[in-house]
Amino acid sequence: MTVPGLFSDTALITPRLRTEVPGPRSRALHERRLRVVPRGVGSVLPVYIEHADGPWVTDVDGNRFLDLGSGIGVTTIGHTNRAAVTAAADQLDRVTHTLFTVTPYEGYVHLAELLAAHTPGDHEKRTMLANSGAEAVENAVKIARRHTGRRAVAALDHAFHGRTNLALAMNHRAVPYGAGFGPFAPDVHRVPNSYPYRDGLSGAEAAARTIGYLEQRIGAGDLAAVIAEPIQGEGGFVVPADGYLPALQEWCTRHGVVFIADEIQTGLGRTGTWFASEHFGLVPDLVLTAKGIAAGLPLAGVTGRAEIMDAPDPGGLGGTFGGNPVSIAAAVAVFDELAEGEFFADAARIGAHLRARLTELASRHRIIGDVRGIGAMQAFELSEPGTTRPLAGAATAIAEFAAQRGILLLTAGSDGNVIRFLPTLTTTDAQLDTAVSVIDDALAALG
Ligand SMILES: *Cc1c(COP(=O)(O)O)cnc(C)c1O
Repeated sequence: MTVPGLFSDTALITPRLRTEVPGPRSRALHERRLRVVPRGVGSVLPVYIEHADGPWVTDVDGNRFLDLGSGIGVTTIGHTNRAAVTAAADQLDRVTHTLFTVTPYEGYVHLAELLAAHTPGDHEKRTMLANSGAEAVENAVKIARRHTGRRAVAALDHAFHGRTNLALAMNHRAVPYGAGFGPFAPDVHRVPNSYPYRDGLSGAEAAARTIGYLEQRIGAGDLAAVIAEPIQGEGGFVVPADGYLPALQEWCTRHGVVFIADEIQTGLGRTGTWFASEHFGLVPDLVLTAKGIAAGLPLAGVTGRAEIMDAPDPGGLGGTFGGNPVSIAAAVAVFDELAEGEFFADAARIGAHLRARLTELASRHRIIGDVRGIGAMQAFELSEPGTTRPLAGAATAIAEFAAQRGILLLTAGSDGNVIRFLPTLTTTDAQLDTAVSVIDDALAALG
């Protein structure tokens, strides 16, 4: 349900720029920031946000941007969604923290019930809650190792799983995530993924290649878990070929390997279903959630088969802030909002509209080599015309051009040559059209 927000900007179609971008107030804040915040904490666009509503973010200079990134797929149901904000505010007045592993509370149990009901599969499930996606990844690996008694973990090429030390070992990209931050956790292996645009393989062929690597480099007997994003996020919205993920999972099941779906970017309505696994007929052993689960408050979860999740002994899982009651209240509101179904329809609408508009752009701009995605998770990849060779620099140039016109765009891809769209599900077709025409201008300006 799209309830008008506090600032009621939701129905507007065009951005509003009152100053140059970034404006004078943002520039002043940025100077202060550079004196106290390390440069390793970057910002894609140093405009300092003052309020946000639906698909809009408004900066301290009064410039209103159409946000097509949603804080990397976090504010999926819209910035400051009224139901989530109200639920969190009510909870703030009652109790903010006890620590579930000291004295528990109902919200944790309720959210675990919701995750059990809405993650794929009818089997008995358990959920543990944590604070960030990387923490969910870490806990999933702990649980899989404890359950299997095996040591090795496999991740896919172009994967991204977070910024803690274990996750760094699983990420595809060294720069900027891992370089200089080693040593890394041992027994983490990377194997080829399915990347139809670049490898031209069918799902069965790509799966055979991946499984061949798993068997030759690790051996099923030592492998605790395989982790995969159903659609790779930071890797550039790589949608695997049909049949790839089910074949990989089938091999895992046959060999007692835990199959972990990292749905941190793809889950909770983003692709028009509760979880992207559903599009591929996947029933993962463990499902990881974070990003969109609590409408902007920090929360993450590991949900999975009871017999796997129950492997760690009491006290083996936990953490001071994991399952914060305020975040949980917002998350329960997210589930309520999604259960109404309109947001799923919005994700499908946004996907269909963007896909059509981007495909039309690709017919006129030869550097767009591929348009792909599912639901409100769409992207285009920029290549040297007539090849699949990544075109350097163009994606960043398009994002910078768009920012100057009030459109916030995110890049992605191991080669940085992908523009990805993660709009809030409150974004209208007319707002998307505004963005696409700016991108059209940006592509024209690139020549
Ligand atoms: C963002 C992301 C993570 C890491 O989540 P954090 O909350 O930043 O730790 C892990 N996996 C995927 C697929 C992500 O998109």
